[in-house]
Amino acid sequence: MNILTRECNKILVLSPHTDDAELGSGGSISRFIENNAIIHWVVFSSAEESLPADMARDTLTKEFMEVASSLGLGAENVDLHHFSVRKLAERRQDVLDILVSLRREFAPDMVIGPSLNDYHQDHAVVANEMIRAFKMSSSIICYELPWNQVSFESQLFIRLEDKHMESKLNMLKKYESQIHINRGYFTEDFIKGLGYTRGAQVGHKFAEAFEVVRWMI
Ligand SMILES: [Zn+2]
Repeated sequence: MNILTRECNKILVLSPHTDDAELGSGGSISRFIENNAIIHWVVFSSAEESLPADMARDTLTKEFMEVASSLGLGAENVDLHHFSVRKLAERRQDVLDILVSLRREFAPDMVIGPSLNDYHQDHAVVANEMIRAFKMSSSIICYELPWNQVSFESQLFIRLEDKHMESKLNMLKKYESQIHINRGYFTEDFIKGLGYTRGAQVGHKFAEAFEVVRWMI
């Protein structure tokens, strides 16, 4: 991790919807914060339309803000946009403009976002615009969300200790709305199982795997 903390002091986390980055990279984010990285976290959609009709529209916004504050991130570390879910393609240029502004203003050393192999329509937009915006300026890695991917190149493994897995599970527990609607990947068994699987590939108890689009030192 020394090279990561020395070379990747500023890390931009991109999440198409609330919860994507936590699911794909929550343990690593916890490890980066422990190593004093400066995190800027952007969510593009609070997915209001995906919530059951009897739930408050701002439920996912509140849940995400609880995650951020539990990690010690303040309003200055977080941008939460409210694009409509499944319609990011219609706002592609707005997404790119946001990312280009962040490239200028935050100048991240590394960007973490969804994979080009992710077939969720909103994730695909963020993955493409992320590469368009940062391919000349920053390291770019992509997190794993297996239910959306038909293939995944596990090129980078970030080893996690128990405390990082615990932190990831605690982040996901804030999303009571998602636990409530019984998503198969929103269980402790699934999250730990994937962590064990990626860990077993690198001789460690837990890990998260990433695709590497760019690695700049
Ligand atoms: Zn998503």
